Amino acid sequence: MATTATGGCLCSGVRFTIADPPSEVTVCHCDMCRRWTSGPMMALHPKTAPRMEATETLAWHRSSEWAERGFCNRCGASLFYRIVGKPDETYVSAGAVDDPGIFSGIGLAVFSDERPAFYDFKGDHTQMTGAEVFALFGGKNSGDDA
Ligand SMILES: [Zn+2]
Ligand SMILES: [Zn+2]
Repeated sequence: MATTATGGCLCSGVRFTIADPPSEVTVCHCDMCRRWTSGPMMALHPKTAPRMEATETLAWHRSSEWAERGFCNRCGASLFYRIVGKPDETYVSAGAVDDPGIFSGIGLAVFSDERPAFYDFKGDHTQMTGAEVFALFGGKNSGDDA
């Protein structure tokens, strides 16, 4: 497994390094990620927040009471999802990593009940509905999006 991974947006206005990147990707099928990425969000969840190397064009959108999404305000790339007030709870777009060959597959898919019918992933990975996610991570009503 790689010990660090680098990544960034399409125009390189945002660049980052991740320590000990996980080898499996987490997928979110929720309605908000669909609007944000035009598909599922495919992300990695490192143990610590990425180290930022360039933030010239990084902007944040507060997408819910408890989370915000980082993107490039020049090229439009979707980059980060983080829990407000918990910088180490940052998910990083797998597609923004320079070498996607570091990933072995999908480890977990969340909001599986919101996945549109027009796509699906092969393989055997853990799936959780929105209600199961909120039950595990705390108290929001099922039906709310992440
Ligand atoms: Zn950019
Ligand atoms: Zn989502």
